[in-house]
Amino acid sequence: METRVIGVDPLEDCRAVYREAAAVLADGGLVAIPTETVYGLGADAFNTEAVADVFAVKERPSFDPLICHLPSARALRDIVEIPAGLQPLVDALAREFWPGPMTLVLPRKACVPDIVTSGLPTVACRVPSHEVMRGVARALGHPIAAPSANRFGHISPTSASAVLTELGGKIPLVLDAGACSEGLESTILQPCLDEKGKPAVRLLREGPVTREKLRKICRVLKPGKKTSSDPEASVPGSGAGENGQEEAPTAPGMLKSHYAPSKPLMLHNPREAFQPEPGVRYGLITYQGDSELAAQDCWTEVMPLSPGSGRLSEAAVRLFAVMRAMDESPSVDVIIAEELPLQGLGCAMMDRLTRAAAKRGETW
Ligand code: AMP
Ligand code: MG
Repeated sequence: METRVIGVDPLEDCRAVYREAAAVLADGGLVAIPTETVYGLGADAFNTEAVADVFAVKERPSFDPLICHLPSARALRDIVEIPAGLQPLVDALAREFWPGPMTLVLPRKACVPDIVTSGLPTVACRVPSHEVMRGVARALGHPIAAPSANRFGHISPTSASAVLTELGGKIPLVLDAGACSEGLESTILQPCLDEKGKPAVRLLREGPVTREKLRKICRVLKPGKKTSSDPEASVPGSGAGENGQEEAPTAPGMLKSHYAPSKPLMLHNPREAFQPEPGVRYGLITYQGDSELAAQDCWTEVMPLSPGSGRLSEAAVRLFAVMRAMDESPSVDVIIAEELPLQGLGCAMMDRLTRAAAKRGETW
């Protein structure tokens, strides 16, 4: 299949492009669409065959539910049933972080197909701040189910060219609006009430909306923490299942191995001296580029995430592109990643690097 690429500049009038992309989606086709986090592989969320194609094209297992992208917070009530006790919390989160890189997991309405939620009673929803994803969703008139536009387990694409590397020839259309402004997948939250009946969120995936920002609104709980407000079964990541064994993870966003380059990637442990093996060419992903580690002469390539300035937001925007560049570099066999500060966006980046370093198929 030929993959068409249409350039789109959200500062101009893009309605014709939005209509064209919406027509492909309405016809059951898939479109790669930019968001502020990463490029998504979009399908009409109400078209089960199109959603099945998303899983097929990505080779994504069917137990990994998709996020529905909405044009506005008002559209939320079309697909979810918010428990009365959680309404004020959902309103507060939406006011503070939407449109933006926050996904809320809420009880779904019957109109949301099983295939979107992998059969879960909840659906993940987001109102992106990127004008292009919102514009296409508005033109389609349905939510757009969109995981990242990469093959399953690979590095998420933060540019149209990365989408083409991943899925070129497999999808009919890519909208190209340049690089993503956040560069990391959304923060995923499940609103709930804690054991005292106070509003809280379970942090299911770290992302651009950091714990520090969330704590200004409510308590932040670990993924597996059970509370009284979620009687309808699913508490994602709740650990031990029957027989005391690890439960299958509710979703590979929570699998240990994910976001992985094809070359081995290892996290550098600052408490141990790095011991290069003879004959192996090592590339270093470093934070600012001026550390003692970066100054060692054992690297065939050194790629800083935030050269000189050491800004976590810049590092986040560049993380996946740098991982991809290391993966494609002909002079690197093994990628070593320096640890990042465990604060703010550093937590989400370390989450991605830790999963990228895990062996394929490995679970927690
Ligand atoms: P992505 O792969 O970036 O599209 O993110 C999808 C991720 O959202 C999944 O891997 C899950 O971690 C999470 N997710 C989606 N739907 C649900 C749900 N109903 N309950 C819990 N997590 C969900
Ligand atoms: Mg993904």
